[in-house]
Order: sequence, then structure tokens, then C-alpha cells
Amino acid sequence: MSEYIYVGEKFYSKENAKVSVLDKGYLYGDGVFEGIRFYNSKIFRFDEHMVRLYDSAKVIMLNIPLAYDEFKELIKEAVRRSGFVDGYLRVIVSRGEGDLGFDIRKCLNPCIVIIPAQLKLYPQESYDNGISLITVPTRRSLNESLSPRIKSLNYLNNIMAKIEATNHGFEEAIMLTNDGFVAECTADNIFHIKNGIIYTPATYHGALEGITRNLILEIAEKNKIKIVETSIVRYDLYTADEVFITGTAAEILPVINIDSRVIGNGKPGTMASKLIEEFRNITRNEGEPV
Ligand code: PMP
Repeated sequence: MSEYIYVGEKFYSKENAKVSVLDKGYLYGDGVFEGIRFYNSKIFRFDEHMVRLYDSAKVIMLNIPLAYDEFKELIKEAVRRSGFVDGYLRVIVSRGEGDLGFDIRKCLNPCIVIIPAQLKLYPQESYDNGISLITVPTRRSLNESLSPRIKSLNYLNNIMAKIEATNHGFEEAIMLTNDGFVAECTADNIFHIKNGIIYTPATYHGALEGITRNLILEIAEKNKIKIVETSIVRYDLYTADEVFITGTAAEILPVINIDSRVIGNGKPGTMASKLIEEFRNITRNEGEPV
């Protein structure tokens, strides 16, 4: 964790970085966030993350109290102060303080928090040998109740699914929609490959429009590999040649087993490995300097 964390209107030392117990983010998970990577002092896909943050905020009618460019500048400042060359940023905008009710008109000062950190979610072995997934009972929230495309602070749905996974000894879970289509994992998007074609659940099935997901779409297009966003059921995953998951924190992880079915030959697939290589190339070279 960085020694400096931005809260409200200035940077604080880690020990003194605190938010009010009356903040709606704390009381109700009322707010939005982003998880962003920086590699070699360059913020990766910075605009994509910021656009998604502003879009999420717009949908929940939260006014981000900073102009887009000012906000970006502040985030760069946070990275510079951290002294980290490679790392992860948690950027949060919560509704701010009000009373104990739900009336957003009483919340006049949304609260910005920026936490630079270093993280390693999975051991190297998971990247080399692949991971196993389990489908869990908790369903992805309905588009019509809380759109899973909003990257909101309210992650209890995903946390429930993660609890179910870890209770059974798995680090990541597959979440289905109410009618049984594959949506995504608790913090990652999912892809499978069959006969040279890449498939991923369409966002209308509850998948977050992941920045890493978009990058896979881009890499596939560039390499003239057919990629399809569609309706996927577990049968498709069990019988796939390859499966992998993607996310800013996890990057790209091969999947070798789902619900006790061996995927492909039980080893990370060659196409996924090529995508991972290309992904690494792009993260090494791209990004907005801080
Ligand atoms: N799905 C969910 C539910 C997520 O929280 C995330 C981000 N951690 C992703 C997918 C992956 O999105 P991205 O590639 O933008 O990190």
C-alpha cells in the first residue's frame, strides 16, 4: 500500500486516511469505483477506466466533483507520490455524507478516494498451470434490479459468490444469470475457445464490460481470430478446447478444470498462451505516463 492516500480533498498518510461513518459508500455501498493498473510508470488504458467510472457514476446519478482532466491529473499525482513503478490503483467516488436515509439530495459532497497499491492476486503457479473454477449458486444480479455493468461499491453479490467458491476450496467462481446463462466470474470476465473461435458472454448476460475483455476483443480482431459475444451455457465451457478469465488485477489466467470437468487436455491452451504473450507485450509498451 502507498504511504499516501487521497481522501476528500487532499493526500493523507496511510494511517490517517479515513472516511466518515456517515458516508453513503460505507452505509449502503452507494458509490462507484475502478481498479486500474500502471506498468512501468504508465497508466494502462487510463481513459477506458475513467470513461467507465464516469459512466457508472452517471447511471447512479452521482456527480463526480472533479472535471475529467483534473481527476486524471490527481490520479497521476497519487502514482507519483506512491513511488511505485508498477502497481494497482483503487479509485473510488462515494455519494458522501448525508443522514441515515437514502435521499441523495442530502449528499452534497461526493467523496473521492485514491489508493495506490501493489498486488499479486494469484501465485505464478496459477499462470503457469492454470486454475480450477466452480459454478456457484448465487446468481449475478438482474439487469433490471442493479445493472452488473455499473461498477458500483455494492459488491455483496460477488462477495457471496466468492464465499461459496472459497468454502469449496476454489479461488474464483462462475456466476450464472437467473436463467442459467454464464455471466462472468466474481471479479473477472470469462472466455472459451472452440475450434479456433473465441466466445465470451455478451454484456446483456450480466458481464461487466471489462477493460481487459475489450483488449482481448481487440487482440483477436488484430490477429484475425473470430471472436463472438453471445449466450453461453455451462455445456459450452465444459466442452471447450480452452478457457481463460481476464481482469485488471488477475490479468489473464488459464482455466483447466470447471466443476470437475477437465478442460481440453488439462493444461493451459496454446491460443490462451499466445493471447497472454501479446497482452504482456501491450502492457509493457502502452499507457499514459505519470
Ligand atoms: N467482472 C467483474 C465483476 C469485475 O469486478 C471486474 C474487475 N475486477 C471484471 C469483470 C474485469 O474487468 P476489468 O478487465 O476492467 O478489470
